[in-house]
Amino acid sequence: MNPEFISSAHNPSQFPTDQGREVAFAGRSNSGKSSAINTILARKRLARTSKTPGRTQLVNFFAVGEGHRIVDLPGYGYARVSASVQEHWRSLLEAYFKSRTSLAGLIVTVDARRGPKELDRVMLDWANEAQVPVAVLLTKADKMSRVAASAQETEAVRNLGAPVVLFSARKHQGVEEARAWIWKWLGLD
Ligand code: GDP
Repeated sequence: MNPEFISSAHNPSQFPTDQGREVAFAGRSNSGKSSAINTILARKRLARTSKTPGRTQLVNFFAVGEGHRIVDLPGYGYARVSASVQEHWRSLLEAYFKSRTSLAGLIVTVDARRGPKELDRVMLDWANEAQVPVAVLLTKADKMSRVAASAQETEAVRNLGAPVVLFSARKHQGVEEARAWIWKWLGLD
């Protein structure tokens, strides 16, 4: 498998043809989403990791073989973006979840130290409404003690009603679990 960038979309008319299967990644800005995508797909800089969160409002599509895609949704929750940027984000994402028939699964990245926030729940709700399976990566788990990380995991499972795994791009924790979900949803397992 050699993932390749397909295109970026600023509005729904720019989404690639809605055929085959794709798995989307959503998460707050700086939650470690790009690092998770790069680690799971074993590519160093496929999704750009950024130190200036909240700038990009693009949906990025990557091909992982014929008819299978990974989708990097724009990060959210960055306080300093304008109301119009936030509104654009919401309408773009809502259009994506409501219209995309090839969407086969959603991964939400949540910083393990912070826990899930309202917009993370909105993502999970939109996926549930679209009857799309979800899983949550509790990211940067290496920054916490094992005890604290495991307490966050228990809490997230209880609160979210979704499968949760502790994840660290740095320490390669949870990578196999994440791959197993994604490959299954893509029908590649
Ligand atoms: P994104 O904005 O959600 O795409 O987040 P990034 O992947 O760009 O990561 C945001 C910051 O968190 C960067 O400084 C990363 O180096 C850092 N980061 C991401 N994943 C990990 C991890 O597993 N462990 C640690 N310690 N830092 C991480």
